[in-house]
Amino acid sequence: MSDEQRYTGLIERYRQWLPLAATTRAISLGEGATPLIRLHNIEQDLGGEHVLYVKFEGLNPTGSFKDRGMTVAVTQAVAEGSRAIICASTGNTSAAAAAYAARAGITAFVIIPEGKIALGKLAQAMAHGAVVMQIQGNFDLGMRLVREVAEHAPVAIVNSINPYRLQGQKTAAFEIVEALGRAPDYHCLPVGNAGNITAHWLGYSELAGEQLPALIPPGVDYPAPRRLITKRPHMLGFQAAGSAPFVAREMVDEPETVATAIRIGHPQSWQYAWSAQQESEGWFGAFEDAQILETQRYLAAREGVFCEPASAASLCGALAEIRDGRIRPGSTVVCTLTGHGLKDPDIAIRELSEPVLNVPAQLDAIAHAIQTRLA
Ligand SMILES: *Cc1c(COP(=O)(O)O)cnc(C)c1O
Repeated sequence: MSDEQRYTGLIERYRQWLPLAATTRAISLGEGATPLIRLHNIEQDLGGEHVLYVKFEGLNPTGSFKDRGMTVAVTQAVAEGSRAIICASTGNTSAAAAAYAARAGITAFVIIPEGKIALGKLAQAMAHGAVVMQIQGNFDLGMRLVREVAEHAPVAIVNSINPYRLQGQKTAAFEIVEALGRAPDYHCLPVGNAGNITAHWLGYSELAGEQLPALIPPGVDYPAPRRLITKRPHMLGFQAAGSAPFVAREMVDEPETVATAIRIGHPQSWQYAWSAQQESEGWFGAFEDAQILETQRYLAAREGVFCEPASAASLCGALAEIRDGRIRPGSTVVCTLTGHGLKDPDIAIRELSEPVLNVPAQLDAIAHAIQTRLA
């Protein structure tokens, strides 16, 4: 196969819709082009009156949607001459930053909350050679420190306050519209810092021929909107009950949830996410950790799709709103599954699994176990 046909990541795929100079060398790991999976079994459980998809972003190179933003942010940072990047992270941003920095041959500094990051994410940051700094404090404190240190030190911030992150993440909306031939009626996302719900709204808006000037990086030649759709989806954002500033309508100082990727009380994209909610006539909701974990287990067992706890918040919300009738029958619904279940094996083993059977290494014991289960 020639290099022209090989998929080489979202920058090459969507370069004309991104504010990158035409000659900029893309730092890519082949991110994007994730599957939009129809949930046939769960649709049946719900009565067959809705069309339900998940966009499985856990199948990006480092296992989360953060790769979409990171490829563009690191590409731009390198083009501007940066030799180092920095981020605060609940885990997945640090995994992506570490991987793309390795790819670019630059240094990644990552600040994570001690003891509150999933094992797989920590393993990734370490494996890719990032400088990992654990702090006695949560994501929100880490974010404050990163903002301050980047004013003095020669490092580029790659959190979602970097406008190039949202530019990369908007491409998920492009892929969904290409797959469906239109926008869904409802798009459900888990909300932490609220960068991703903002980026999706940006993507859908540009496809509807609208620009969102506040999100355009300063001083760039910005591409014209694409005009592929006439209707944008209602944007629904879901949070964990212990970490739900958009439901409380105010910042939360001590966020707590098992879904560590959305354990954020002071979202950086606060105002943008409210705009997305209002302009799309969408809404926010929150669910208890137990409901989120139950949805994670249900999706894994019923459809064979294994996402991390935070990701399950989107489907948890969709299921609740469908049952309540707030998402109307006949609707097409897309839920973003932000990260892969393997990121957080501790939770899976502790909360989700069928018990492991201890069976003697003998034929009749195994045969008996099979008979018991199938009886
Ligand atoms: C980062 C992340 C989120 C939250 O996304 P925001 O853009 O911060 O709202 C949700 N789920 C996973 C798995 C993440 O890594």
